[in-house]
Amino acid sequence: MLNGKTALVTGSTSGIGLGIAKALARQGANIVLNGFGDVDGSRAEVLEAGNAHGVKVAYHGADMSRPSEIEDMMKYAAGQFGRVDILVNNAGIQHVAPVQDFPVEKWDSIIAINLSSAFHTSRLALPAMQAAKWGRIINIASVHGLVGSAQKAAYVAAKHGIVGLTKVTALENAALGVTCNAICPGWVLTPLVQKQIDAKAAENGVSAEEATKELLSEKEPSLRFTTTDELGELAAFFCSPAGNNICGVAWNMDGGWTAQ
Ligand code: NAD
Repeated sequence: MLNGKTALVTGSTSGIGLGIAKALARQGANIVLNGFGDVDGSRAEVLEAGNAHGVKVAYHGADMSRPSEIEDMMKYAAGQFGRVDILVNNAGIQHVAPVQDFPVEKWDSIIAINLSSAFHTSRLALPAMQAAKWGRIINIASVHGLVGSAQKAAYVAAKHGIVGLTKVTALENAALGVTCNAICPGWVLTPLVQKQIDAKAAENGVSAEEATKELLSEKEPSLRFTTTDELGELAAFFCSPAGNNICGVAWNMDGGWTAQ
């Protein structure tokens, strides 16, 4: 379905980004990976996922908090594959603290990585998508793009911001064959959330298993994590012909979190 297309997924060496990269590779898209950590392991997983289609996998290690590195990455992707047809803005970090204690440098890096990077990649990817009259921008927001939670000021501000950016990008491109939509997951068991479970367990003096149960029952009525495979399939759906006229939605996959 996506043979001959190229998808760039930021923060795709782990968690949700890796799950989406694999799902798009399974549909035949060539993939540009980005992120830190286990690059070789991620590349191997994505190559295996796209094996039946002979997909190619490239990697650029741009730091999403640095616009000049983002520019290098977008040039690199175009050099490797001609252009980026599918852009998934996924890289993100978290920090929890009350507003009055929130470290200023953490605020700045969360806004830069979770929000501003999506502006930079989008502004650089759009001209080629518009010229080709086909493009998909998928912004990985969060339920925290729709509702708040205590102690997450920077994250909630960035995620609400990316939902707004999604709507504007969708409106500007609605008649040009380029769609932009946001995905808003609830809890997904990735290293980003494991850190929060470990902190909760330590704070409440309970096991990680008990802390996990508490975390889910507090917010997520389905009482289970959304999987990275499920999110990958939703991203692939946005790239399918069924997604041609879906513009500017913030689509939650949250086990009922925001239905409450
Ligand atoms: P993760 O920690 O497993 O992965 C984050 C990825 O981003 C990694 O590949 C990491 O290397 C990369 N990254 C971090 N800082 C970067 C930087 N400065 N430059 C480039 N890459 C960088 O996290 P995850 O849970 O998979 O989160 C992915 C996205 O999904 C984030 O935007 C997060 O806010 C969002 N999200 C996660 C959950 C959840 O429950 N896990 C829920 C809703 C939304």
